[in-house]
Amino acid sequence: PFSHIQSLPPDPIFDLLEQYQNCKSTNKVNLSIGEYRDENGNPLVLEVVKNVEKDLASRNLPKDNLPIDGDPKFYEEATKLLLGPESKYIKEKRVCSIQCLSGTGGLRLTGELIKRCSKNKTIYLPDPTWVNHAPIFKKSGLEMKIYRYYNNGLNFSGLIEDLENAKENSFVVFHACSHNPTGTDPTEKQWKKILKTVKKKNLVPIFDTAYLGFSSGNYDKDAFAIRLAAEQEIPSIIAQSFSKNLGLYSERIGCLSILCDTQKEAENLRSQLKAIILPMYSNPPIHGSLIVGTILENSYLIRKWKAEMKEMQSRISEMRSLVYKELTRKKTKRSWKRIISHSGMFTFSDLTEKHVKILKEKYSIFVESTGRISMGGINHNNINYLVSSIHEVLQN
Ligand code: PMP
Repeated sequence: PFSHIQSLPPDPIFDLLEQYQNCKSTNKVNLSIGEYRDENGNPLVLEVVKNVEKDLASRNLPKDNLPIDGDPKFYEEATKLLLGPESKYIKEKRVCSIQCLSGTGGLRLTGELIKRCSKNKTIYLPDPTWVNHAPIFKKSGLEMKIYRYYNNGLNFSGLIEDLENAKENSFVVFHACSHNPTGTDPTEKQWKKILKTVKKKNLVPIFDTAYLGFSSGNYDKDAFAIRLAAEQEIPSIIAQSFSKNLGLYSERIGCLSILCDTQKEAENLRSQLKAIILPMYSNPPIHGSLIVGTILENSYLIRKWKAEMKEMQSRISEMRSLVYKELTRKKTKRSWKRIISHSGMFTFSDLTEKHVKILKEKYSIFVESTGRISMGGINHNNINYLVSSIHEVLQN
């Protein structure tokens, strides 16, 4: 029954990661996948996570199934963190939030929810955007359109014009902060204008919040656009991930929150989401929700976590400054200013596919073919090698 099935090409980013892992060079540098690495290039498990895991292990907790929509302690705390504990949506029980399989899972459920419940199935994505957005929404058969986002900097006038011309009641994906791949976000003033247009056109924002905390080092500040949408009573969908800011990538832990007009609406949406989840994966895994739930219900642990998150963000910022300083000192071709003006995990360099290929083949430096550099992989040990390699590649 399987003989007619053809093999598909591998996913380019995971494939590049595998090539990096198989590479024998002692100088190899991985700047492809958006996973944070510490000063020694190793994956980082946060201290606060290690301590909570020790405590959880000592409690011999059961392995019973969670409810279909996950652990209420987790998703209620995650929503408080996202909207602020004083949010009227929380007080008036007008937010439908559920546990989901990290950011990707939240977006995937969003696609299915739109397919199942919305008359309007048009969704606008920024151009460019995270490579997985289009495949995720394609799975739900949505009509995909793009809006202008980047043109060597934020294309603000293009963005506003495209939203002005968007079909009323459509869905629009926004990166709440640390835009992937461009590292370029609207300012607070620009967000105000964007959300004004969103409200005028009755558009529904879908906030992808994979990197809250990674832009400014402050979770609340990075949640500005979401909180502004809530303040302005704009019905919104928010896919919140704990992969990056708590370093919980493989736990697949996230929260999907939907801001509704009434409590009844929120309850109805919950029942629809449960009907989508049950035949898809039944219910989510428990370990990540126990870790995050335990941290978020304890103000001391929240402070510890936020301090560690700030450290990750500061280390990336320091690397941005150093790379910029060194490339400028060497008078390396092209403008590198963006390395310090961009924020979050990525810099959208103007290295071409050809440069990226040489970096990989000659220098064992792995960068995505678009020239997107994952800044989390740079450290004091590899920075000189990286800078001199980029310099040489651009000389020729
Ligand atoms: N959105 C964006 C913009 C991302 O960059 C990523 C991760 N690369 C995700 C969502 C999904 O991450 P996760 O599923 O691990 O939360």
